[in-house]
Amino acid sequence: MSAAPADRKGGEVAEEFDTDVCVVGGGPAGLVLALLLLRSGVRVAVVERARGHHREFRGEILQPGAMALLDELGVLTGARARGGHEHDRFRLVEGDRVLLEADYRLLPAPYDHLLSIPQAHVLDELLDHCAKFDGFQWLDGRRVGGLVRREGRVAGVTAAGPEGPCTVRARVVVGADGRYSRIRRLAGIGAGRTEAFDHDVLWFKLTEHKNTGKNTGKNTEKNTEKKSGRREAGQESRRERARERPGVEPPLRDVRVFRAGGSPVLAYASWPDRIQIGWTLPHQGYRDIAGQGLDHVREQLCRAVPPYAHLIREQIRSPRDLSLLDVFSSRAERWTDDGLVLIGDAAHTHSPIGAQGINLAVQDAVVLHPVLVGALAAGDTGAARLGVFEERRGPDIAAVMRLQTLQSKAMLSQGPIATRVRPRLARVLRHTPLYRKVLHRIAYGNPSIRISHG
Ligand SMILES: Cc1cc2nc3c(=O)[nH]c(=O)nc-3n(C[C@H](O)[C@H](O)[C@H](O)COP(=O)(O)OP(=O)(O)OC[C@H]3O[C@@H](n4cnc5c(N)ncnc54)[C@H](O)[C@@H]3O)c2cc1C
Repeated sequence: MSAAPADRKGGEVAEEFDTDVCVVGGGPAGLVLALLLLRSGVRVAVVERARGHHREFRGEILQPGAMALLDELGVLTGARARGGHEHDRFRLVEGDRVLLEADYRLLPAPYDHLLSIPQAHVLDELLDHCAKFDGFQWLDGRRVGGLVRREGRVAGVTAAGPEGPCTVRARVVVGADGRYSRIRRLAGIGAGRTEAFDHDVLWFKLTEHKNTGKNTGKNTEKNTEKKSGRREAGQESRRERARERPGVEPPLRDVRVFRAGGSPVLAYASWPDRIQIGWTLPHQGYRDIAGQGLDHVREQLCRAVPPYAHLIREQIRSPRDLSLLDVFSSRAERWTDDGLVLIGDAAHTHSPIGAQGINLAVQDAVVLHPVLVGALAAGDTGAARLGVFEERRGPDIAAVMRLQTLQSKAMLSQGPIATRVRPRLARVLRHTPLYRKVLHRIAYGNPSIRISHG
């Protein structure tokens, strides 16, 4: 990896880097791919526009499939040690009735739960592992704004940040830059967006009083002590808790969707001591609601989740406390070009139903890794050779999209028949092989995906 001043524009020195693979985007897809390639002896530069991974409301529920792969990569234990909560079940509830349930305890150990873990904990751990390799270059705080082309093919990127402009020359560029991928647009590849869902999601986090004293929000020493205590509790697996207290059934933790009349609301415990809430509202309808002012939004939220009304009134103080997720699904027209591959959300974006995005991003990296290593070794990084990735991965993505559409219908359909029939059907199904098969599919996607150690 080399970095050298390359160009002078208005007195500004543009740095120039040279590498094998330039990954744009240090999210789960980009950093897992970087680590896999580095382990195979490939030089990698990751260009990330953010400094640090600590922006709020990144997806944080890990399915067993992603957990198993991260474990095999040797990063899960360290990520969990930074803090996270296990959840045993996913439940759709209306009043005191359970309409649908996915019970992860039925899956084989050790991945018999969902893991709610700040994405920063996973990304920081991945980054620490990448940093152990000499061939790794972490170029954060730089936003990619252009593609370098040579002889009609992609041969690098240009980026800019507070430290000035830079050019990264590479044999392959990987666009792992998320749902609104700049790389995809620069390559002239259509996003393939479809408005398949009737809802968007408004996310926010609340802090329960019992854990925060006077809830000053200040990170006092006392709070830090409390947090580290909770961190240990959060790390404990259900089995460990059961072993420590034989005969005492440890309390179950659930990811719940409450259905009370109008729009469903998702809620779960988020590390360390917060409640993550996702309020579904009509697709593209937030502008109208927000247009009536923050007081109006707050009252709508209180009506949607009455048990948290007091915390909402107290803690939602500015529009910045709320984060709107525009829900859509998309599959890019193609995932490769000469010298270019798209992965993760940049290639295919999903609705939040069933928490699939991180699973799919990690699996994409695992599937792409041997394709890239082979292409680099063969000296052929053309679209046809790289296209093997889409051939292998496309059917899995199509299957997950079909499953999410079914999940969405099962969860969100209203009406007296659906509401009466669904819980009975769910109770009967729970004892059939089909239930475990669907659960396994939601948890793992394609379970045959394995890390290539070649
Ligand atoms: C609010 C919300 C909640 C979600 N909840 C869940 C969940 O619970 N479970 C789940 O599995 N999935 C969830 N998802 C989806 C999940 O977060 C994504 O599917 C997953 O993060 C995709 O990983 P990725 O690496 O492809 O892209 P991203 O995680 O989006 O990472 C892309 C990276 O590229 C960087 N970048 C973008 N543009 C540029 C540029 N021009 N130059 C340099 N860098 C750039 C970004 O800063 C970012 O770090 C959620 C998504 C959202 C928005």
